[in-house]
Amino acid sequence: MARTGSTKHTIGGADDLVAAHAAHSELEAALSRYIYRATRDIVYELNIREGTVGWSEAIYEQLGYGKREPVHTLEWWTSHIHPDDALHVEQKLSDWLLGQESTWACEYRLRKADGSYCYMLDRGIVVRDDAGEPVRIVGTLLDITKQKELERAKDEFISLVSHQLRTPLTVIRVYGEMFAAGLFGQLTGTQATHIARMTDASIRLISLVDDILDLSRIEMGNYDVMRAWTDLGSLLQQCIQDVQPLADGKGVELSLDSDPSPLKAYTDREMVEQIVANLLTNAIRYSQPQRGRVEVRCYAAKSEAIIAVKDNGIGIPKADQEHIFERFYRARNAANIEEHGTGLGLYIVKSLAKTLGGRVWFETARGKGTTFYLALPLK
Ligand code: ADP
Repeated sequence: MARTGSTKHTIGGADDLVAAHAAHSELEAALSRYIYRATRDIVYELNIREGTVGWSEAIYEQLGYGKREPVHTLEWWTSHIHPDDALHVEQKLSDWLLGQESTWACEYRLRKADGSYCYMLDRGIVVRDDAGEPVRIVGTLLDITKQKELERAKDEFISLVSHQLRTPLTVIRVYGEMFAAGLFGQLTGTQATHIARMTDASIRLISLVDDILDLSRIEMGNYDVMRAWTDLGSLLQQCIQDVQPLADGKGVELSLDSDPSPLKAYTDREMVEQIVANLLTNAIRYSQPQRGRVEVRCYAAKSEAIIAVKDNGIGIPKADQEHIFERFYRARNAANIEEHGTGLGLYIVKSLAKTLGGRVWFETARGKGTTFYLALPLK
């Protein structure tokens, strides 16, 4: 190639790069301006080092502030986040900035000029310098208040209806049990069979309603965790006692093996009982009648308490294993042995375990049995 005697016009030379960079920045700025105008979302650019924020016009339109409002500081933004959401946002943001994920998404309430709050879905990306330090966050705020209100109304409706269903169902169950016990006179064989069917159906409906109530509480984030030092050995004994009639009815043997020294965890007793009750009833229901053996073990491992519920039942087929913690999922082999089931129990178990800072998992072999494990932090 012929030399020009100067590097000035060489493609890729310093001046070209500067010019290309300037053109690119101009293009970026122009694009940002158009995007600001084109979208109804609020678009922002946060300069982390300077603590300043650039907003699209939508910030004024959607939140009702006048142009004199000092919206251009990080402090303004953080001070307008609902006090109940502020800690969560701060925590999530710092985790995100320290982590490797490039995109961010968070929901929180932001104060409007009239003092009311709107729900925002904040989504953004981080721009880092050569050393990997975060420099800017560019993102959008989408007003999801309507959607949130609809969700809440739906959850409240489900919870109200479920409560209204539970009371009459309990009345049916109790009267059925009283009939069966002969409190209203001796029943004929056929009457006893029909009454037993009715009582059985009402018990199943009550348990379905309970599952739906739990589900709506989980979805609304309405679980109050009441932690206290809890002796897991006595808790397990109680759970086994509660499911003994179910096990007897199916000819399944139950046993408990726990550390001789009492194992205590700082946790919510009722929630742990609910988890274990679910695992135990499943272990019994998915065992072969008259041949089932269910063993419960409890031991400490590092900073966790482990509760294992082992059965020698039907096992979980490979294709179903990744789905069984999903809502409403039931494996075909389970539906064959146990006609009634909702597929909600394990979803609830997993959500409760997570709420308590724990986890659940299982080991299984088709036709040989399954062991479910619950790990809970001791402290
Ligand atoms: P349900 O028991 O009402 O169907 P769950 O959510 O409790 O709902 O369980 C989901 C599915 O996981 C069950 O339908 C079954 O396929 C499988 N499963 C749960 N526990 C066991 C177990 N101990 N042995 C075999 N399969 C199980």
